[in-house]
Amino acid sequence: MEIPVTAVEKKPLPTTMRTAEPPEELPLSDERYMKEALKQAKKAFAHGEVPIGAVVVYEDRIIGRGYNRRNTDKVALAHAEITAIKKAAKVMGDWRLEGCTIYITLEPCPMCAGAIVQSRIDRCVFACSSDKAGCAGSLINLLDMKEFNHRVEISSGILEEESRNLLQSFFKNLRSSQKES
Ligand SMILES: [Zn+2]
Repeated sequence: MEIPVTAVEKKPLPTTMRTAEPPEELPLSDERYMKEALKQAKKAFAHGEVPIGAVVVYEDRIIGRGYNRRNTDKVALAHAEITAIKKAAKVMGDWRLEGCTIYITLEPCPMCAGAIVQSRIDRCVFACSSDKAGCAGSLINLLDMKEFNHRVEISSGILEEESRNLLQSFFKNLRSSQKES
């Protein structure tokens, strides 16, 4: 069960549950990194691309960032996640991204879900789900198949509204510019 971030922020923990050091992987840190993924998505927006962004985090440090550049680069491989994974692998000096978490503003497509499994990323956090291409539970869950030798932990719904609003305003702009021309 996911603890909604807003609930954590608004309601202080009972004093008995407060500790000097917050445990790792609090939903609050998920929110912090998702904000970074959203920054990447906004870069895609600025390039006239569907606004999707991703960051890869290792030991509380961002080691890879990416945003959708499919039209700019004119190649289907230029998804946010692939770019972020490539950069992270370069930093790690290894194709294995064990111990890493990927934050994505939209549920991964089949290609990116495959890349996440192949990179052996531990955890995938995404903002909003995709009923058109989502392969982390919406259409199929490629991240958690017992048939594969690696399974990825999934969290979703982190800054969902922000991500959805960004996507919706992109498509709204697109429709109105298509009407004009
Ligand atoms: Zn993808």
